[in-house]
Amino acid sequence: MRIITSAAAMQKLALQWKRTGVKIGFVPTMGYLHAGHLSLVKRARQAVGKNGKVVVSIYVNPTQFAPTEDLSKYPRDLKRDLKLCREAGADAVFTPGDAEMYPGKTEGNYSTYVIEENLGCVMEGASRPMHFRGVTTVVAKLFNLVLPDVSVFGQKDFQQAAIIQRMVKDLNFPLKIVVAPTLRERDGLAMSSRNKYLAGDLRRQATVLWCAIQIAKSIVEKSKSVSAADLKVDLKKLIEIEPDAKLDYVEFFNPETLQPVAQVKRGTQMALAVFVGKTRLIDNSQL
Ligand code: AMP
Repeated sequence: MRIITSAAAMQKLALQWKRTGVKIGFVPTMGYLHAGHLSLVKRARQAVGKNGKVVVSIYVNPTQFAPTEDLSKYPRDLKRDLKLCREAGADAVFTPGDAEMYPGKTEGNYSTYVIEENLGCVMEGASRPMHFRGVTTVVAKLFNLVLPDVSVFGQKDFQQAAIIQRMVKDLNFPLKIVVAPTLRERDGLAMSSRNKYLAGDLRRQATVLWCAIQIAKSIVEKSKSVSAADLKVDLKKLIEIEPDAKLDYVEFFNPETLQPVAQVKRGTQMALAVFVGKTRLIDNSQL
C-alpha cells in the first residue's frame, strides 16, 4: 500500500493509472477510522474490481470547522488508520498536510472555494454556516488530485452526500457517486469518530438519537400522516429526558430535494443533531 503526502505525487500517480486504463475508487475520510469507513473501502473495491485501485484519503479539513468547533481536538491516529487501510485492501492512502491542501493560505494567498447554494442552507448548513463550503471545496480538490471513477460516501452524512452529488452534476465531474448504508453499534448508535468523546454515561445517553428515529418510525407506521411540528415537539421532549442531551435540530424532509415537509409519512427522511455533553452527534433515516 502506498502512502502519499504530496498533492503533486497523488495526482501524478492517478494520471499514470488513468493512462493505463485502471479504474480508481476513492473514499475520502477525516481518519480515526472505524468499521463504517472500512465498509466504504470495501464498497469502492467492489466498484472497481480487483484490477482497479482504491485510494483512501485521511485529512482533517480545517475549512469545514468553525473556530468554535473541535478541529484541534478531532481524534487522530494515523498509525492505526494505515494498518486498517492496509487490512481493508486499499492500494493507496493520501494523507496530505494543510500546506499541501491549502498552499499559501496562511499568507492570504488562497482564495478559491466551491459553494453549493441550495441544499446546503438547511439542517447542518444552518447550524454550521461555513461547514459545507469547506466540504465541497476539499472534496472538489481531492477529486482533482485522485481522479476517481467512483467515490463512496456514507449515508450517515445524508445531506453531505446529497450536496456532493449535486456538485458532481453541476460542475461536470466525470465520476460516479455511491452512497453506502450507515454502520451502527449493537445498540443502534451510528459509528462515528466522535463517539470516542463519549465517556461514561454519555455513551449510553447517545443511543437517544437511534431511539428517536425508532419512535418516529413506529408513530408513522401507526398513523398514515403526522404533523411534523407536533412530532418535533414530542421528540425534543423525549431526547431531552437524558440529562446531558440537548437537541440541536430534528427535521423531516423529502430525501430528493431536502425540502422540509409539513406532514410526515412513510418514505419521509428524518435527520437530527443532538449535543450529548459537548459532543455533537448526527443521524438520519428514512421513515
Ligand atoms: P468522516 O471521516 O466522518 O468525514 O467520514 C468519512 C466518510 O465515512 C463519509 O462519507 C461518512 O459519511 C462515512 N461514514 C461515517 N460514519 C459512517 C458509518 N457509521 N457508516 C457508514 N459510513 C460512515
